[in-house]
Amino acid sequence: MESAEIRRRWLSFFEERGHTVVPSASLIADDPTLLLVPAGMVPFKPYFLGEVKPPFDRATSVQKCVRTPDIEEVGKTTRHGTFFQMCGNFSFGDYFKEGAIKYAWELLTSAQDKGGYGLDPERLWITVYQDDDEAERIWHDVVGVPSERIQRLGKKDNYWSMGVPGPCGPCSEINYDRGPEFGAEGGPAVNDERYVEIWNLVFMQYERGEGIGKEEFEILGELPSKNIDTGLGLERLAMILQGVQNMYEIDTSMAVIDKATELTGVAYGDAQASDVSLRVVTDHMRTSVMLIGDGVTPGNEGRGYVLRRIMRRAIRNMRLLGATGPVVKDLIDVVIGMMGQQYPELITDRERIEKVALAEENAFLKTLKAGTNILDTAVTDTKAAGGTVLAGDKAFLLHDTWGFPIDLTLEMAAEQGLSVDEDGFRRLMKEQRERAKADAQAKKTGHAGAGAYREIADKAGATDFVGYTDTESEST
Ligand code: ATP
Ligand code: MG
Ligand code: MG
Ligand code: MG
Repeated sequence: MESAEIRRRWLSFFEERGHTVVPSASLIADDPTLLLVPAGMVPFKPYFLGEVKPPFDRATSVQKCVRTPDIEEVGKTTRHGTFFQMCGNFSFGDYFKEGAIKYAWELLTSAQDKGGYGLDPERLWITVYQDDDEAERIWHDVVGVPSERIQRLGKKDNYWSMGVPGPCGPCSEINYDRGPEFGAEGGPAVNDERYVEIWNLVFMQYERGEGIGKEEFEILGELPSKNIDTGLGLERLAMILQGVQNMYEIDTSMAVIDKATELTGVAYGDAQASDVSLRVVTDHMRTSVMLIGDGVTPGNEGRGYVLRRIMRRAIRNMRLLGATGPVVKDLIDVVIGMMGQQYPELITDRERIEKVALAEENAFLKTLKAGTNILDTAVTDTKAAGGTVLAGDKAFLLHDTWGFPIDLTLEMAAEQGLSVDEDGFRRLMKEQRERAKADAQAKKTGHAGAGAYREIADKAGATDFVGYTDTESEST
């Protein structure tokens, strides 16, 4: 089943059941605590928080999402992309646990000729939160899932909150058993690659008090109005329904792998390392196109830096695979060819997207060679002195003068067996930001607008990645 059909079936299933279809919001979150949208619930947050009265009791969407914190997993696991689409259904004080569980089961297991996805019920495994007897009872007694395929997990996996006082509650995840070729048996609690998580149901049930992070807090009581927030990964379901090994090989990705092999002459399936590179390129080019499509431009702060980091990593992986000239235009054309069906604005905006991406590629290719030489010399010197850690000031120089995002330096140093003094790097970055701030302050002379902008940029974490990746991992 094609991705477009998965999406169509999702929306019509929930629309037929009284949900209002809400188009995807932009990846640029309309929310000061987030740089980019990491989950389908984000556009509905004011309703869940009770800040705004929802215009409907039920909604459904297929939301564009970016999760930068998953970047390290890309290409290595079979199921993590920095960009993906989250199919969701939402209830605002309307149906709750039993309603959400029954809908999910019906849509996943009803036959394809009856409008469902036709998954074999015996391959579905359920996880519930350790204390959530009610969810376990519904899965077992109402839906009929045998006890041996229901597992209980702790807060880390199966509890949702936003890390601050407000709504919270247990989740229940639906996982698909891809069979013994994906590793040991034992269910999702022991093997999350074989039993791949496809759908998370969040039961917003309680009011959370103060506490620490997402795991240590007290519960003040039941919410007066209980909500449902769910998220299913469209690419993950496509991977299963299309019978491919990983999410980079589905219908809306595979042609990028093919193009990258054509441009580099490296065959897919040749070697583990080059396969990872090909998947990284595929994922990152998709993400880059979607980000530029939504108006992000490469830069050294906030969203612009997310884009820069992802694009430069894609370009360098193409070099690792053997590309010598520019590659971005060809790759972008393929991405737009595949994604344009769902997002026609990519086709309308093709020229602008290409212009932004090509300028970034040119800028990076200009400094990549010189920067690589600097890095190689620094690595050789560090090793000659018996060291194993590349100094923070080298990483800073590479960032500041040669446009190497920190994770590029980390990756390149690691390839040569060194780690990097990231704390030192961050200290220098912070000092530089403070200098820039002081300069701006001095120049301000009554330009309140510029000052306010600066403050927002600082809040967003500026060039310091660590600051916001955590908020970005906010999930359903
Ligand atoms: P995982 O445990 O596999 O990392 P998750 O629990 O972090 O997934 P959720 O936050 O529950 O994911 O998001 C809801 C759904 O979105 C998941 O069940 C999955 O299908 C999909 N999803 C989450 N992260 C990604 C990703 N990086 N790439 C593709 N799909 C994803
Ligand atoms: Mg995750
Ligand atoms: Mg999970
Ligand atoms: Mg989950």
